[in-house]
Amino acid sequence: MLAPFTAGWQTTDVNPLVIDKSEGSYVYDINGKKYLDSLAGLWCTALGGNEPRLVEAATAQLNKLPFYHSFWNRTTKPSLDLAKDLLETFTARKMAKAFFVNSGSEANDTQVKLVWYYNNALGRPNKKKFIARAKSYHGSTLIAASLSGLPALHQKFDLPAPFVLHTDCPHYWRFHLPGETEEEFSTRLAKNLEELILKEGPDTIAAFIAEPVMGAGGVIPPPATYFEKIQAVVKKYDILFIADEVICAFGRLGTMYGCDKYGIKPDLVSLAKALSSAYLPIGAVLVSPEVSEVIHSQSNKLGSFSHGFTYSGHPVSCAVAIEALKIYKERNIVEKVANISPRFQDGVKAFADSPIIGEIRGTGLILGTEFTDNKSPNDPFPPEWGVGAYFGAQCEKHGMLVRVAGDNIMMSPPFIISPEEVDELISIYGKALKGTE
Ligand code: PLP
Repeated sequence: MLAPFTAGWQTTDVNPLVIDKSEGSYVYDINGKKYLDSLAGLWCTALGGNEPRLVEAATAQLNKLPFYHSFWNRTTKPSLDLAKDLLETFTARKMAKAFFVNSGSEANDTQVKLVWYYNNALGRPNKKKFIARAKSYHGSTLIAASLSGLPALHQKFDLPAPFVLHTDCPHYWRFHLPGETEEEFSTRLAKNLEELILKEGPDTIAAFIAEPVMGAGGVIPPPATYFEKIQAVVKKYDILFIADEVICAFGRLGTMYGCDKYGIKPDLVSLAKALSSAYLPIGAVLVSPEVSEVIHSQSNKLGSFSHGFTYSGHPVSCAVAIEALKIYKERNIVEKVANISPRFQDGVKAFADSPIIGEIRGTGLILGTEFTDNKSPNDPFPPEWGVGAYFGAQCEKHGMLVRVAGDNIMMSPPFIISPEEVDELISIYGKALKGTE
């Protein structure tokens, strides 16, 4: 097998952990060993491993209509129903349309084409550049990898594409100046963004893209007043705001969307992962009334928006997503996450005094640990020590899976995690830390 994000392409040579079965917040490997799945698959199995209603929704749809496409003037009822249900869940501002894709990467690629189409429709052929942020992750297709601000996604792939620029990562602990408050740090970053826009020419910048809380870059919640200040700059220069909610949506932060938590009023939203609780692949782009109106009204002149995938609006994926949204609502999942988050956050953050921990950061049910020496962002451990990898292996030994990226450890458990399971997670984290110190 050729495995994603794996050196040498041969996972069989590195003895992969083969996962065989899942149950609630747990997964089992091929030998029957049980692990608490602290990352919910890849930040996505929000309803855990064996939600029967999702299986039933998929089975019923498979029996009725396993596939029909949604191109031109054909579609299916599940895709129409999901568009309606999904738009109702987004209340940070009104959204008018949903466009379905199969993944977060496809959602972000679609964003770029929508924004270009929009500016072409408005007769602004030069307004085509995108500003993303260092350390962001927006996916791994050519455009999504370009938008991402992680060097590993660019090196050796001749990326980023020339129309993508990167601005500061809003990581206060790592990048603030001596004596600078969070608010002052946010003001400086907004000023840097404005300077970049002015240097490039505001009439060349089409859109700014951001995750409400950065995920794969190391779990980085925004500093105080950051989005307020960034949005003011973006708005001033008529630049669209794309919220990449692929990880944050549907309750992860203790609010339905990251936009709700941080007062973001986006023009476009990217979704995937928990949209179907990851039981089947599906992603979506939500489009504001202003953008969709331009696209709609100009399509006679420009021709149709010729973009989409065979499986855009796949009826079985849509049926599962409809059921997932229903369950989130019926079980008050957002409130549940908000209620359990302090137990999770406070429990893990209680280890922050460890001499090998630089920072523990997070909100809701998402949390990152960064190992450094001397509690300083400037004193990383030598990579050959493999501190993060060792901690990850210790967690695995004690029955828990975490995401390891160098000396960053990330966790985002399923929304259904129980108080007892949170306590177990904290206990394993503590044991693994002790074994690593
Ligand atoms: N955007 C964000 C914020 C993500 O975290 C991810 C994946 O982790 C993506 C986009 C890409 O999603 P996918 O892997 O479904 O293409």
